[in-house]
Amino acid sequence: MTLPIGRFAPTPSGALHFGSLVAALASYCDVRSQRGHWLLRIEDVDTPRVVAGASDQILRDLEAFGFEWDGPVLYQSDCFEHYQYYLEQLLRQGDCYACQCSRKTLREQSVPSGLLGQIYPGNCRHKALAERGCSLRLNTAAAGEIGFHDRVYGYFSLRLEESVGDFVLRRSDDIFAYHLAVVVDDELQGVTQIVRGADLLENTCLHLYLQQRLGFATPSYLHLPLVNNPDGIKLSKQTGANPVDHRNASQLLLAALRHLGQAVPAELEIDSPASLLQWSCDHWDPSRITPGPAAPGTQNFTG
Ligand code: GLU
Repeated sequence: MTLPIGRFAPTPSGALHFGSLVAALASYCDVRSQRGHWLLRIEDVDTPRVVAGASDQILRDLEAFGFEWDGPVLYQSDCFEHYQYYLEQLLRQGDCYACQCSRKTLREQSVPSGLLGQIYPGNCRHKALAERGCSLRLNTAAAGEIGFHDRVYGYFSLRLEESVGDFVLRRSDDIFAYHLAVVVDDELQGVTQIVRGADLLENTCLHLYLQQRLGFATPSYLHLPLVNNPDGIKLSKQTGANPVDHRNASQLLLAALRHLGQAVPAELEIDSPASLLQWSCDHWDPSRITPGPAAPGTQNFTG
């Protein structure tokens, strides 16, 4: 039997907050409960967004919470040649094209906004522009409806061309888009089950289409109900969520388990982070996770 492979893939744009702890815990329990491997990937592909020291802090925090990952940590900033390789495959296949439209041009054209930002209307699709100084976009004309079965949210689908439009794979400043990087990394790392926040539910349809065009396997997906602050806004680094304080590791792990609907017995309250993690893996029941509102504050990774 092949063992499942899962991963936690934080962006080092700030410290871990409670929402990221929930994602780390759920992805960990989901594979460890099946004796599978849990990988750690630092998603630092968008180098200007990286905050100095954040990845080391994330690693230290995860260790303090008792998480143990398999193998070396993968840094996306070490993988640019992989992303370029698959981008060239898409270019050769005619799936991808150079685009010279700036955000300003699109704003001026009053292009309507969709689920993940402005719906690119395909202005440059047939211009056969040279790559230099251009962004590269995936042509979604043939995508049709892309759907998948999420283990918490059930069947979810999007008509990519109408609701997202041709999305960017490499920006005009040569930075690879998260969508390309995540799909390539998950394939090359052999990831079989992805557990992450429901803010990425829509993005998953983009990832499925990329997997199809690149001939990659599609992992299973489980999206987690988002953690909101008292004002109902999703906790995120952008909205200034408080970093997790590992001096309260056990209490935070218990709160994360409760957010995930797990049946936490009262006697667990006094346990150390390591024994709580062990308990969590031994008693992991993903069927107890209830979907929150379907991804209101979706992360916009398209531009
Ligand atoms: N890097 C993303 C984040 O920190 C997660 C991406 C993923 O799990 O696919 O929100």
